[in-house]
Amino acid sequence: MTERTFSIIKPDATRRNLTGKVNAVIEDAGLRIVAQRRIRMSEAQAKTFYEVHAERPFYGELVEFMTSAPVVVQVLEGENAVARYREVMGATNPAQAADGTIRKLYAESVGENSVHGSDSLENARIEIAQFFTDADIVG
Ligand code: ATP
Ligand code: MG
Repeated sequence: MTERTFSIIKPDATRRNLTGKVNAVIEDAGLRIVAQRRIRMSEAQAKTFYEVHAERPFYGELVEFMTSAPVVVQVLEGENAVARYREVMGATNPAQAADGTIRKLYAESVGENSVHGSDSLENARIEIAQFFTDADIVG
């Protein structure tokens, strides 16, 4: 089934000028970037986005990190895009990420791990709506 998922190229990657290299991995995996915008995430946006982790010990650090430099928010489209992008990203901790994945190639640590991808179709819809309107997405 053709799906859309939400992606963020995180501050550690934009800081190192890796947007194009990350996008190349995404496109080589057969996913299409159908919306993309470089933004500076506000503290309110980051807190809302990672609200599910509010009780975790790393929440404050995570919000601080996500607002520390520009991010690139994206909508990716393709066959089974949600699961496919999770595969392409690799494990949360780059030390456990498979060869060829974005996190294996580029992530610096479990916190500064270069990319976000939605973990379900339901969350993909919610997350896309936080940053894009239908008119922004050109499939
Ligand atoms: P994401 O939601 O960003 O796609 P994920 O689904 O692989 O990543 P989650 O468990 O949802 O991982 O954690 C969200 C984010 O919180 C991680 O990507 C990472 O940036 C940060 N994080 C997770 N675990 C830790 C940790 N132990 N220490 C520091 N930061 C962490
Ligand atoms: Mg997650």
